Amino acid sequence: MGRELGSGGARPGVGGHPEAGQRVRGRVLAIVNQKGGVGKSTTAVNLAACVAELGERVLLVDMDPQANATSGVGIARGSLSGSIYQCLIGASQAEEVLVRDVGLPGLDVLPATIDLAGAEVELVSVLSREYRLKEALAGIRGEYGLVLVDSPPSLGLLTVNALAVADGALIPIQCEYYALEGVSQLMRTLEMVKRYLNPGLEISGVLLTMYDPRTRLSEEVSRSVREYFGDKVFKTVIPRNVRLSEAPSFGKPVIMYDGHSRGAEAYRQAAQELLAREGLGSAGAKASEGRG
Ligand code: ADP
Ligand code: MG
Repeated sequence: MGRELGSGGARPGVGGHPEAGQRVRGRVLAIVNQKGGVGKSTTAVNLAACVAELGERVLLVDMDPQANATSGVGIARGSLSGSIYQCLIGASQAEEVLVRDVGLPGLDVLPATIDLAGAEVELVSVLSREYRLKEALAGIRGEYGLVLVDSPPSLGLLTVNALAVADGALIPIQCEYYALEGVSQLMRTLEMVKRYLNPGLEISGVLLTMYDPRTRLSEEVSRSVREYFGDKVFKTVIPRNVRLSEAPSFGKPVIMYDGHSRGAEAYRQAAQELLAREGLGSAGAKASEGRG
């Protein structure tokens, strides 16, 4: 079932990925998993930073009221003139609340605040409520090579908004007990969004997080995830690394906090793999040459 979603259309390698040589702008990836604590926000912040470091312009969109991605790049709530919430309810344009060049050049952020918790309820009776993020991003996504959307630990309207605009879903899976618990529900949600809201939605990738090579459990989780998702799973695995958990309290992506840590190296490698898979950057161009 997990594979069905990615099998539609012409298949250059993994389903849904751009044709060889084709340059895409503003490709949107939604980082989703309704389980909390699996590494969504950590992945959003650090992939965004590493992709920007590779020279691709990145927009990080925070769709979680907990605003971990926003604080994780050092944006203080008090400094904001507005947030993604105002964009979703139609009170502001994305350009008005955009925070530019956060931490490193080429990384822009659409920040979240706790207000966003209200949006889930307030949008229920609103016309085209599932497409509010899509509309908000329409005017700016073309400025970026990649748009990464962090999402809350639920499959509610905020996550559906993220999936309704996404070209791909990126699913972090924590190498822990019950890693695959809830995955079939997530797959059903992805299928529903694809069927009713966004026919272009694919699974872009599955990223194993908090991998501990000393434990058999991590190895077992890795094996069962690879059995289930096949080549959707990133070759790169993100190790459990204390630098990754410390960096957010300094408001920095790990490459700015401890650029030589194992966590930094892993996210750098994952970013390269992502660009190659998505046909972006020089990594993508090389991959495309290889394919074409
Ligand atoms: P989610 O957004 O899915 O709820 P987070 O990215 O916030 O998950 O991660 C949950 C917790 O685990 C956070 O405290 C984070 O700092 C920590 N964490 C995430 N990834 C790692 C990792 N690879 N190694 C160590 N700690 C991690
Ligand atoms: Mg989070």
